[in-house]
Amino acid sequence: MSRVAIIGNAGAGKTTLALKCICITLAIFLLLAFSSGKQNAASAADVKADAQKFIDEFTAEWLKLRYAYSLASWNSNTHIVEGDETNSKAENAALERLTTFTGSRENIEKATTFLKQKEKLAPLQVEQLERILYMAAEYPETAKDLVKERIAAETAQTEKLYGFDFKIDGKSVTPNQIDEILRTSNDPAERRKAWLASKEVGKVLKDGLANLQRLRNATVKPLGYSSYVNYQISEYGMSGPEMMELLDKFNRELRPLYRELHTYARYELAKRYNQPVPDQLPADWLPNRWAQDWSDMVKVEGLDINAALKDKSAEWVVKQAEQFYISLGFPPLPPSFWEKSSLYPVPANSPFKKNTHASAWHLDLQSDVRSLMSVEPNADWYSTAHHELGHIYYYISYTNPNVPPLLREGANRAYHEAMGTMIGLAAMQKPFLEGRGLAPKNAKVDEMQLLLHEALNYVAYMPFATGTMSRFEYDLYENNLPKDEYNKHWWELALKYQGIVPPVERGEEYCDACTKTHINDDAAQYYDYAIANVLLFQLHDHIARKILKQDPHVTNYYGNKAVGDFLRTIMRPGSSRDWRAVLRETTGEDLSAKAMLRYFEPLMAYLKKVNAGRKYTLPEI
Ligand SMILES: [Zn+2]
Repeated sequence: MSRVAIIGNAGAGKTTLALKCICITLAIFLLLAFSSGKQNAASAADVKADAQKFIDEFTAEWLKLRYAYSLASWNSNTHIVEGDETNSKAENAALERLTTFTGSRENIEKATTFLKQKEKLAPLQVEQLERILYMAAEYPETAKDLVKERIAAETAQTEKLYGFDFKIDGKSVTPNQIDEILRTSNDPAERRKAWLASKEVGKVLKDGLANLQRLRNATVKPLGYSSYVNYQISEYGMSGPEMMELLDKFNRELRPLYRELHTYARYELAKRYNQPVPDQLPADWLPNRWAQDWSDMVKVEGLDINAALKDKSAEWVVKQAEQFYISLGFPPLPPSFWEKSSLYPVPANSPFKKNTHASAWHLDLQSDVRSLMSVEPNADWYSTAHHELGHIYYYISYTNPNVPPLLREGANRAYHEAMGTMIGLAAMQKPFLEGRGLAPKNAKVDEMQLLLHEALNYVAYMPFATGTMSRFEYDLYENNLPKDEYNKHWWELALKYQGIVPPVERGEEYCDACTKTHINDDAAQYYDYAIANVLLFQLHDHIARKILKQDPHVTNYYGNKAVGDFLRTIMRPGSSRDWRAVLRETTGEDLSAKAMLRYFEPLMAYLKKVNAGRKYTLPEI
């Protein structure tokens, strides 16, 4: 092979010479290799310099447009005046300017051309160019009309979802009121009505989803993605089938524990509603519209954070969360955070409203970090404040000269969520609460009920996230699920993964999947939450056992600089390093649900005892 290559390189005229004298051939080879090596070196340096120039120019313009969009978006989320569309129009216009730039034909062509010479580029350059192409694929100029149609269709879908008038017995009710019934009512008839009412919105969203299925797939295809779901998954550096296999693995690992929870719930709820024990769980029996969080099934006695926070102020709650991070060696939040954030509820008589969903923002990808919350001194906001500041400290940590702005993100999308949720979990553990004066020392807490409560939240969620939701979206986009099978398939998946059945026959006039917000406006990313759940237990387990040398159920991170160092090692590189390598280097392990299982091990033994003699109906995998 190499000889052919030599001759080929030397040109057709040298063939005879090569056959005659091997020494001359070798000499020519060495000469050519040397000179072409020199040539390669020169051109590699040129390509590198050209690519850097492109990346720098792209970054400068992108940062400007992105900041303008973030500011416009911030205004439209923090200052909502009914009937006044000024802010939302400004936000849309800024988004259009940003996406026109990121999806421009010129940028796509340049990034593609440079990536064809990958071997001449630095790894960090390759990552940034791939990031540029990834952003371009969402709104490419090469599919301009489809992009326009898609943005309009997404806006219309969101408006239908949020503007829907839910009704029970002909009377308008809010989603919160429906949730309240599902959380607290022991009357099966009342529960059924509430559940059915919550699913009516699906009917008006079904056509819209079919349209978005087509448009989302069509907009990413010009850049070589087979479907929208594979496009979203590619951010993890994985193929669609690889992601599905990872999710199935989590599901297999957790199945024995989930089977115990499934059996427990069937029997306990049948007792509560005074009904025969069903083979599978009727969807309207669970305390959540999608059966994704069952934790309201049990109450934990002895821990009353609401009571402990009653006399504190909302400001105290946010300061307390900041203090937690400072105690781990993070810096105080910049003064601009306190000046520019919108942290507290607007008064009832205020001329404007704001988005009440909590969020954390990194507006300029430099120092302008803000949070949008409506903090009140209660347990929910206490944990949310810790969660949101987790995002903020992640932003602050990867804003450093080693991480170019294009890579200032979580190691993957799930890392960001995992960090905040883990700190939220840690801030709720008893020794931490005692240390902060939020729980009386030696208060009696039913540890097993607490663990059960946590499992009904974190573990019961997993088959929904890994199975029902992620499989549905995978089949929707990658396998072009036909519109007249949406509902049938949704319930097949709910039965297979969650062991849940609809309380009444659900025909194709409904779209029960459409009632889930993310299906409409955060498409094909739901596995992020499943991965974040697994990851947070893995990181928490490492911190508890290896750093703090404490039982993972009763930890106190407060004031521990080594914990801070560990978190910063993960946070500092942003997405400039492969997330799998980061996990392996920091914990010595690959991503798996093992730590989550170990955390709930005592509960497994307890449930086996409680479920003794009961019939298990959910198949083992
Ligand atoms: Zn979050």
